[in-house]
Amino acid sequence: MALISLTIFMDTDNITVADLGNYPATENFSTYKMNIELIDSHCHLDMEPFDNDRDEVIKRAKENGVGYIINIGSDREGNIKSLAIAEKCAHIYSTIGIHPHDAKTLDDKLYNELKAWAKNPKVVAIGEIGLDYHYMHSAKDIQIAAFKRQIALAKELALPITVHSREAEDDTLDILERYAKGIRGILHCFSGSVDMAKKVIDMGFYISIAGPVSFKKAEALREAAKMIPDENLLIETDAPYLSPVPNRGKRNEPSYVRYTAQAIADLRGVTLEDIARITTLNAKSLFKIGEIPKNGAIAYRIRDSLYLNITNRCTNRCGFCVRFHTSFVKGHNLHLENEPSAQEVINAIGDPSPYKEIVFCGLGEPLMKLDVVKEVSKWLKSKGSKVRINTNGHGNMIYKRNILPELEGLVDSMSISLDADDKEKYNKVCKPDFKDSFEGVISFIREARQYIPAVTVTVVKLPDIDIEKCKKIAEDLGVGIRIRSYNVVG
Ligand code: SF4
Repeated sequence: MALISLTIFMDTDNITVADLGNYPATENFSTYKMNIELIDSHCHLDMEPFDNDRDEVIKRAKENGVGYIINIGSDREGNIKSLAIAEKCAHIYSTIGIHPHDAKTLDDKLYNELKAWAKNPKVVAIGEIGLDYHYMHSAKDIQIAAFKRQIALAKELALPITVHSREAEDDTLDILERYAKGIRGILHCFSGSVDMAKKVIDMGFYISIAGPVSFKKAEALREAAKMIPDENLLIETDAPYLSPVPNRGKRNEPSYVRYTAQAIADLRGVTLEDIARITTLNAKSLFKIGEIPKNGAIAYRIRDSLYLNITNRCTNRCGFCVRFHTSFVKGHNLHLENEPSAQEVINAIGDPSPYKEIVFCGLGEPLMKLDVVKEVSKWLKSKGSKVRINTNGHGNMIYKRNILPELEGLVDSMSISLDADDKEKYNKVCKPDFKDSFEGVISFIREARQYIPAVTVTVVKLPDIDIEKCKKIAEDLGVGIRIRSYNVVG
């Protein structure tokens, strides 16, 4: 819950024509459907603005790809109604909690009621709890006490927390750092600084982005929405509040969560489908609802390219590598039980024609499976596809021969991880299996230039790495360079 009653559907900035952007108009909403699943991780269907058409709102959400809704309890009556809605609808879950505005109502009797309600199987979190120093409907010390008490309840019941923080950044962080260790949670309707986002991400929390991210003037929020790692990102409506463009100023509802998802996708340079997959996986994992893909994908789509995951093995152990803390990339499970044959990869691709390019990448080093790369690339070239390999540049060290002539005519472009400006740093960052790997990678890049039409090196932005020196190395080798942000994968 972000704003209170009198300003119920309005926010403070002015609506500009530019805000209306390229989003489909509300009237055309029913035609704006895709085969995606979204989860509204925070809304208030229990509130009075939905009393006249709650069932239609729920139906409209479902028709527009909202697979699950998390309805948030915020005061005593709201908790009771929220639970009733969740019990009536299989795809709606509830949280239980007392909002900081109502912290003064949290006496022992209400606390015991919350505890009993929270044991209902449809309850997936404690919230919304937190601090709101904007209105001060409850005194500061009472808010703090209620926040701590409800965090303790979440710990006792092994539930995550949904946190509201408004104009209370320092105290919120302090309390989370001291009292919420070991539990998972969400900072909902994020409106804090990039610095705050980094701190809660370091604590393993999710950050949920709401409609204001679609407002062109919400620059700080839009910056934060760009930098949140995929695995920490959630989306919400906070309905009935904070409607995204193009419905800004009107009552919000869960079906509008896709506008927020689209705004985030545009900011992050991915598709609505990518954001839906990423945030839906995160919400399912956090709230322990729905199905999470159990089998690793061989072929997986990101943006308008198809990526191939043919091995989980690698000859590096890079400190920043995603495979050491998750099997998921952009919401795709890439954990392979078995390495696929070339024919299995071709079967997984199906028709390659819709894709801009086909990229050997995955959760490992693709050139460890050179035969598969060659056979699949040959087939892809026969279909007219563009082929790229993302590699650590160890191919010639793995096979103890120059493999690049074998890829000539099969591969259009190659992206090679340089990742350091000297040998010592390379060994520290990448922990390679081979001695003299840095020299090996440089030699691989030099050779690649002769056989592959487009070669680029990549460097992950890390504190110890001299990016200018890396640029100079790339320039001397005559190849392009792409600087990657730490925590952005895929
Ligand atoms: S080279 Fe790539 S796959 Fe291998 S450890 Fe490094 S980041 Fe991970």
